[in-house]
Amino acid sequence: MITNSELYERGQHTIPGAVNSPVRSFRSVGGVPYFVDRGAGSRVWDVEGTEYIDYVQSYGASILGHANPKVVAAIEVAARNGSTFGAPTLNEILLAEALVERVPGLESVRLVSSGTEATMSAIRLARGATGRNVLVKFAGNYHGHSDALLAEAGSGVAAGVLVGESAPDSAGVTPGAVADTIVAPYNVVPTLDDSVAVVIVEPVAANMGLVPPVPGFLEGLRAECDRVGALLMFDEVITGFRLGRGGATQWSGVAADLWSFGKVIGGGLPVGAFGASTEIMSHLAPLGDVYQAGTLSGNPLATAAGITVLTEMTEADHESLSAKAKTLADGLTAAFESAGMAVRVPRVGPLVGLFFGGGEDPVDFDAAAESVALARYPEFFHEMLERGIAFAPGPYEVFFTSMAHSDADLEHTVGAAHEVANKMAG
Ligand SMILES: *Cc1c(COP(=O)(O)O)cnc(C)c1O
Repeated sequence: MITNSELYERGQHTIPGAVNSPVRSFRSVGGVPYFVDRGAGSRVWDVEGTEYIDYVQSYGASILGHANPKVVAAIEVAARNGSTFGAPTLNEILLAEALVERVPGLESVRLVSSGTEATMSAIRLARGATGRNVLVKFAGNYHGHSDALLAEAGSGVAAGVLVGESAPDSAGVTPGAVADTIVAPYNVVPTLDDSVAVVIVEPVAANMGLVPPVPGFLEGLRAECDRVGALLMFDEVITGFRLGRGGATQWSGVAADLWSFGKVIGGGLPVGAFGASTEIMSHLAPLGDVYQAGTLSGNPLATAAGITVLTEMTEADHESLSAKAKTLADGLTAAFESAGMAVRVPRVGPLVGLFFGGGEDPVDFDAAAESVALARYPEFFHEMLERGIAFAPGPYEVFFTSMAHSDADLEHTVGAAHEVANKMAG
């Protein structure tokens, strides 16, 4: 039998760190990553045959769980008919319509192949449409790995998988590339001026643990953008079609001007999208002078999977997903409480975070980092993993339940958390 250690060793000869995305490495928790052999529903099995209840779910890309039969069938049909053409297809329109129909204010979208591409292209569009240069982002928000957005980013960047310690930025990003990027603390409305093209925000921050917007933050951003004529962009790569049918826009009641999507909308295949009003999107080539393109954009397999997932997820399903997350969050809270350990377990709908330490729930990156600095997450992670529960191997990620997580899965998880909390407290 092949082992995780063997693959980890072998992979490093041809792949940096043996991973194709740094958040998959165990750099911030220590140890050897498990190599997944297959997944089904809430479960993954590694190459050694070990079974895990999976709360990574491809960082939120799999909302129905792994290898959902309807998604698999849709992909099979699409694959038999040809996987990419370089010409438009019906499914691209169907996916675009599904997105536009669900998000209030969204009128037109362009499909791309990742969340990074979506945010990067949307920023270019915002600058092209406004004729302004400056972009404002918030510390601890992650918007993919394009140069201009790699400033005080969350997720793997914050976790220090870059250079071992906490690295605010990436080598190879020139000062020029971030010269027009201004970073502000999350949950404080910055004062803008008329040099600002766009303010990009995770409407519910989910890449520095889970940090909800404080009351008035998103409304304040809307008003401040309107005051100076800047565009407000919601990066809904995580929140889109997960927080609810209409994502964070419906959830918050605040209308953005620009949106980016990813993860859920590809049904586990590579898709991203960005969109806005018809007027703003008319600046995009071939209609306008902002260029953006992609050989595999709107890929037939990916659009087939994405449409299937969006069609499957009813309002009732979204409620059910939030109920599962509540069971998990309440169970984790109870586990640590009964062990006498101070933690905060924030939850927004289906999104759950975990911060070690007492006090208030973090409202910004500094507070989140303070909790991470207690360095309790690696032990929690490994103890849970040993009990067959897979959370993300980084302290700044959130826990993703899927529709496939059963009551028994959640009960088992909470039971394990009680054991782990007692062990950690003792
Ligand atoms: C994951 C993520 C991205 C980047 O998407 P990729 O598909 O990994 O390129 C962008 N923004 C947010 C909020 C994300 O969570």
